[in-house]
Amino acid sequence: EQLASPEDGIVISRFGQHADVQTQDGLIFRCNIRRTVESIVCGDQVLFRRSHVVQSGISGIIEAVHERRTVLTRPDYYDGIKAIAANLDQVFIVSAILPELSLNIIDRYLVAIEDVGLAPVILVNKVDLLSEQELEELSQKLEIYRSLGYPVMYSSTHKSLGFEQIHQQLKGHTSIFVGQSGVGKSSLVNQLLPEQDILTKEVSEVSGLGQHTTTTARLYSLPQGGQLIDSPGVREFQLWHLEKERVTWGFREFREPVEHCRFRDCKHEGDPGCGLQAAIDNHQIDPVRHDSFLRILDSMVENKPSRNIRG
Ligand code: GDP
Repeated sequence: EQLASPEDGIVISRFGQHADVQTQDGLIFRCNIRRTVESIVCGDQVLFRRSHVVQSGISGIIEAVHERRTVLTRPDYYDGIKAIAANLDQVFIVSAILPELSLNIIDRYLVAIEDVGLAPVILVNKVDLLSEQELEELSQKLEIYRSLGYPVMYSSTHKSLGFEQIHQQLKGHTSIFVGQSGVGKSSLVNQLLPEQDILTKEVSEVSGLGQHTTTTARLYSLPQGGQLIDSPGVREFQLWHLEKERVTWGFREFREPVEHCRFRDCKHEGDPGCGLQAAIDNHQIDPVRHDSFLRILDSMVENKPSRNIRG
């Protein structure tokens, strides 16, 4: 028998017909995948067996995959929908402050993250560019999110600010960083990973030999505890098309008030009998969030892929 008995592992990277599996004690095995195993992505918990003989760099085989607690997907031209990472539980929304902090963009991410059942964290990076007074104004602007129960934090990779809090928040979770290009996601990830991991990251990203292409997600175990999944494909996770009900549900403070709308197909645009409007009038809902909600709905109609429209 060339195989050891089955044991648990976590997929830290998937490429082609292979996957790298890490054990509890940090050993990594490059595994083949049994044909019976349906699909494997970064973050999957698997049952695998070590080979006693290493052949062509392959040192194990994945026998089965445990049920996923969560899965992050993106639309795929061929498959319709494609899994990109499994078993995440926390998403850092990294925000830009220049030219201006956009609450609407934050809301879009919040809706997408609520939709898949993950916990969002709002992280404003590059605070070294702000004066004390500007930071104070920013913090007041973001008070709405704190009052909704979302953690809000600030960082600067240039001045190494805010990392203590980020480390605390990463502990015990499997997290990713999302946000628009240029907000500082790579800089943040690079400062959070131990040096050795950054080296392997760079080597694998430049080698580009199909083993680890830049779209392959990679899971890193953090020395302070917790795990980070990173890859450009994962970072670009965003709000794809959602039905109106799901967008409404993504605004967590809207869930209860919309139950009181008089009409089931209420547009939530301020018509009489709208539960949302009543909550705005009672100061239970911030009108800024309501405007943002209407803007998201508008853009969803515009962006709806034509192949989904039935005439
Ligand atoms: P990404 O596209 O989100 O991965 O962003 P990058 O990490 O590539 O950063 C984009 C640019 O912002 C780079 O020029 C970084 O040097 C810069 N940057 C990143 N973090 C900070 C920061 O905390 N403060 C300032 N001033 N610039 C930053």
